[in-house]
Formats: sequence, C-alpha cells, structure tokens
Amino acid sequence: MIIDYDKRTITFHQSWLNDYYLCPERTRRTLLDPAANVGSDATILGTGMHAYVEHRLLGEDIEVSMAAGFNALDHEFSLPHKIVQMNEDQVYTFLPTMCASFEADHLPNIPRGGLTEHKFSIALGEWEGWSIILEGTIDYVTPGGVLFDWKTAGQGYKQWEKERWAIQPTAYCAAAVTLGLATFPVEWKYAIVLKSPLSRPKTQLVEFQRTKAHTLWLREQIWSILQATIGNRDALALDAPWVKNDQHALCSEKWCPFWSTCKGKYL
Ligand code: SF4
Repeated sequence: MIIDYDKRTITFHQSWLNDYYLCPERTRRTLLDPAANVGSDATILGTGMHAYVEHRLLGEDIEVSMAAGFNALDHEFSLPHKIVQMNEDQVYTFLPTMCASFEADHLPNIPRGGLTEHKFSIALGEWEGWSIILEGTIDYVTPGGVLFDWKTAGQGYKQWEKERWAIQPTAYCAAAVTLGLATFPVEWKYAIVLKSPLSRPKTQLVEFQRTKAHTLWLREQIWSILQATIGNRDALALDAPWVKNDQHALCSEKWCPFWSTCKGKYL
C-alpha cells in the first residue's frame, strides 16, 4: 500500500495484499519502515532467474541472457539483504542450473512475441474520497492473452491452494483485461523451478483460470482492508498496532524483519 496524501491516492500491490493476509501488523510496520523489509538470497535468486528468462523471451541467446542474470545478482547483492538459505557464492553457482531447467522444461512451451515484465497501473474506484489503484508487473503476457509468472520455490505448489485463493493471478488477470491484453476467463500459468535436486532442479507448471467474479471479490477484499485499517479516522491509522497474526511459517526470526520488536520480544 502506498499512500499519497497530496494526490489522495492509495495504491495496492499484490505482494502487499499477500503480506496483509499473512500478518496485518507486518504490513503496517513495512509502511512505516520500508527499508527494514530487505530482500534475501531467496528473492535475489528469483530476480536473477527473472532477468535470464526476460532476455531469452526477448530473443537474446543463452550467453547474453545468463550475463543479464548475473548482472541482476550483482545489483541485488549490492543492496541491503539477508542470507537465510544460500550464501552469495552458492547463489552464483546455482543460478545457471536453475536457468538450465527453465530453459529445458518451460521455455519450449511459451509462445513468443508477447510482453515481458509488463508494468501496469489501473484504477479500482473511489473509497471515502480516495482513488484506489492497483499496480504491478506481469512477468509475461502471450500474444493470445495467457499470463505467465516465473517462480523459484523450495517446495512444489499445491494446485488447489493457488487456484482457490492466490491473489497475484487475480490482480494481474484483472489488470490484463482492463488494459485489453486478455479476456475473461484468463488463463494463468505459474512456471516454477524448484531448488532441488541441486544437480538438476525439478520444474512444475501450475495453471488455472481467473474470471470477472475473482476481480469483484478482490475489490471487495481491498475495500474491507481499507475500512478495517484506515476507516474514517482523520489520520491514517498507522500509529497503533494492527492485528498480529503468527499462524504462519513467515512469523519467525528468519523471515520477519520485525521479529525482534514483536513476537521475538516474548519468545
Ligand atoms: S513477528 Fe509475527 S506477528 Fe509480529 S509482525 Fe512479524 S509476522 Fe507479524
């Protein structure tokens, strides 16, 4: 959520909405102290693979695309980050292996000629005098209006789980339809590379559809968040704790940047 007091706009990203449903307090603290929410070796590896895939889909050869992947790692490791799974050397060594699996299993099945890393910003409507906006970057939209998202993951995705409640496909499919890049029902595909085995990472394709009904539900969810967090208070309610939810694996010293001043104060 980005709040622009001058323009009276509130902008949502799907990642923020995901975070909100994990733990509202974590999202409130991220709004107050965005610098605390640094990336990790896991997100850096994902960024490297995204750069590789983007360049391959733009028609670059493997060598140039791999160089783009390494450049992305150079940049990300130059920024504040934390190491939770792999050290820097391990990430540099592993990236080409991950990309080789993507190259072999996913790339042959992706139609060329689409839009890569497509940024969007769409209006969702008005709430209490504020303009509500949804923003994001779609990894790939095919010329036929199928949306792809690249993922690196420690474990395979559960198809039913993602289909039932994943927010990213709903947000991105809504944007693609609004922008005239796709029509409902929109085909969504997660092209995933798992981080094991280290010698030849496995891959997974998780695919399902999103409809206009999903878009309407997303809007309802966002409006309820606005009401619950901001309400009718004059000052946007960032100065008092929001609900703290620890019922998920990311509430830990390793994965929550606010652990030491929140649950970590007690346990
Ligand atoms: S420590 Fe747990 S409860 Fe506290 S902000 Fe982080 S995720 Fe939420």
